[in-house]
Amino acid sequence: MERTLSIIKPDGVGRGLIGDVVKRLEASGLTILAMKMIHMTKTQAQGFYAVHRERPFFDSLTDFMSSGPAVVMVLEGENAIARYRELMGATNYKEAAEGTIRRDFATDIEKNVVHGSDAPETAAFEISYFFNAFEINPR
Ligand code: GDP
Repeated sequence: MERTLSIIKPDGVGRGLIGDVVKRLEASGLTILAMKMIHMTKTQAQGFYAVHRERPFFDSLTDFMSSGPAVVMVLEGENAIARYRELMGATNYKEAAEGTIRRDFATDIEKNVVHGSDAPETAAFEISYFFNAFEINPR
């Protein structure tokens, strides 16, 4: 069993896509153990994306992530990290496979609707960034 962090980014929340995203991940068999809506400050977004701090798009990305509410979730399942990344599709929606969330809903390489952890170590960091143990509901 593995856990991963999912975020419905501010573009997804603003465009009314929470239900579409949740529908897809529940239909895929992943279990939602925790879920809440947050509005990150710029500083919180910078901390979350600290690995990208040298990238040219860091300032724009952290402005975007702190521009409105987002939904953060903890997902669990066998191979949850890879399975959820498969549901999301490639970072660039133009390269994302048919039927993926980003292919179907993203409008921009940055405004790509969803985030998902990319490895067990990042999942552990990202889950603990937003949730404490009492907010995660094991099944
Ligand atoms: P992810 O793991 O698929 O989300 O991709 P990355 O970890 O590489 O990038 C993190 C996030 O930064 C992406 O989801 C996009 O929102 C944004 N991003 C990635 N590449 C670019 C880029 O070239 N330009 C801009 N503006 N944003 C980008």
